[in-house]
Amino acid sequence: MKIFGDYHMHTYYSDGEASVLDMVRAAKDRDLKEIAITDHSFNKIFNGLRRKNFNRLVSDVESARSEMPILLGVESNVVSVDGHIDLDDKMRQKLDIVLFGVHVAIFYSLRGFFTFFLPNVFFNSLHFVPGFLKRRNTNIVKRVIEKNQIDIWTHPNRYFKLNVVEVARTCIEKGTALELSAKKISFRPIDFEHMVALGAKFVINTDAHSPKRVGDIARVEEFLKNCDYDPRCIINLNQTWTSFKTKKESDSDTQQNQTTDTSKKPKRWRRWF
Ligand SMILES: [Zn+2]
Ligand SMILES: [Zn+2]
Repeated sequence: MKIFGDYHMHTYYSDGEASVLDMVRAAKDRDLKEIAITDHSFNKIFNGLRRKNFNRLVSDVESARSEMPILLGVESNVVSVDGHIDLDDKMRQKLDIVLFGVHVAIFYSLRGFFTFFLPNVFFNSLHFVPGFLKRRNTNIVKRVIEKNQIDIWTHPNRYFKLNVVEVARTCIEKGTALELSAKKISFRPIDFEHMVALGAKFVINTDAHSPKRVGDIARVEEFLKNCDYDPRCIINLNQTWTSFKTKKESDSDTQQNQTTDTSKKPKRWRRWF
């Protein structure tokens, strides 16, 4: 099994060990054709990307683009029960791809802290998630997918438990891909098969925090051995991917043909299906 691109990895701008260039060179060694650099977004308490470093990250990515196509993104966080994430429109316009995943230590809104963070941490410590909390988590994540333009929902059902199939329905409506994480898959093969049958799209990512993990998808391969699925539901397998570079070139072709509308912003968002 071979992936075309790896769309989730961290550098030392958040909690990764290495530079952008180190990750890019590792991806080249693994024969990947495209990657996304997706550090943790700003509200992650201990190791999120810091706003003062953002421009340095951008220039690191720009200079590394001489090596291979790179998408610049972040892995954003939910900050409120209404489904708001830690990414404003101004910052979003500077990105090529937006990931979203539930993490634990986040600067939440006051209500988010008391109704999302605290009960989840409490019940997780008891290794028991009551139905009301699972429903609440499901609704919060659904709101995130509905309200924000999310390209990939990372590590579904990790940390705070929810109904992954129900959220997948919203992902299908909104064109959001679900991640098969090479770090850990937190749903069952039967859930995966159910989501595939509904029409969900998946992307295999490593969530690498060091160069040696880039492109290593062994755990996903192991998981998929137990699943009955159509490989076409995984959008970065083999050569099925349309590379970002190609996408940009076709965008500029379109713009050249449309000579009148010069105010049109370049298309930043790639919809998956
Ligand atoms: Zn994550
Ligand atoms: Zn991550």
